[in-house]
Amino acid sequence: ATPTALMVGVGRGGQLGILIKGPDALEASGVIDTVVLDKTGTLTTGEMTAGEVIAFDDAGAEAVLADAAAVEQQSEHPLGRAVVVRAHADGPTWPRAHDVTAVPGRGASGTVRGVPVLVGNAALLDEAGVAVPEEALAAVEAASAVAANAVLVAVAGRCVGAITVADELKESAPEAVARLKDMGLRTVLLTGDREVAARLIGDRVGVDEVVAEVLPTDKAAVIERLQAEGRRVAMVGDGINDAAALASANLGLAVVSGTDVALKSADIILVRQNLNVIPDAIALARRTLRTIK
Ligand code: ADP
Ligand code: MG
Repeated sequence: ATPTALMVGVGRGGQLGILIKGPDALEASGVIDTVVLDKTGTLTTGEMTAGEVIAFDDAGAEAVLADAAAVEQQSEHPLGRAVVVRAHADGPTWPRAHDVTAVPGRGASGTVRGVPVLVGNAALLDEAGVAVPEEALAAVEAASAVAANAVLVAVAGRCVGAITVADELKESAPEAVARLKDMGLRTVLLTGDREVAARLIGDRVGVDEVVAEVLPTDKAAVIERLQAEGRRVAMVGDGINDAAALASANLGLAVVSGTDVALKSADIILVRQNLNVIPDAIALARRTLRTIK
């Protein structure tokens, strides 16, 4: 490979909003055959909005929202941010939560007014030995059916309510995925979200395969499994919890809203929010490699 042609390719990428960290990354993009896409923050905008707040007991919706916001205020997850924005808008005040811990792929826990509060999915409550009532399961099902999320809230060992949070698909997602498929690439949606919600999004964007309910710590293992099948994998993520997967992939692409962690583990940084930048980057790499040969 002539270094000059590769450097020209890197330079051309820069003009297109594709920051390629070096000639090796460009060379890797020319030979990948599978593109794995993170859902939240990559295919979707990641700008989530909270909708309905449901209370399961007399304490009421305002108390559910306030306790959830107290914990989520210290979480960096887009779901948590949506809960806090909603609480600010609705006006309940809340005390500072203590000992807040993020539970990756599940939610967060903390102490509010001296009482333990859990905010997250059914698995989070299950693991803490908190019963998930019928009405909570119904809220989760209803949310999944429209590709939304129901954040469950437990106070002092009892599930007291749920907050529905919805995300929006990036407008460019279906076209970008169609272009990747036209280029002969296999497309895979990888998410920690529930199977039902993930399939809905997967169908809307038209990916070949959906891998759902994967814990953040297991995302890299999914990449490695594809590689063991002989696939050369590009991973596209925003890095909220996919830095390890980005690093494991043959090629890691980070969308620019991503965290510093993702940017460090990525080979290519995509500066445009339009997802067509993914096929653009791979096409550029292929063209550059052809020039060299
Ligand atoms: P993704 O793979 O789509 O980025 P995550 O792995 O971050 O999703 O999260 C998986 C699931 O864990 C979420 O769908 C949600 O149910 C739950 N979860 C994670 N973090 C939080 C949080 N801070 N608040 C509420 N729920 C959360
Ligand atoms: Mg994510």
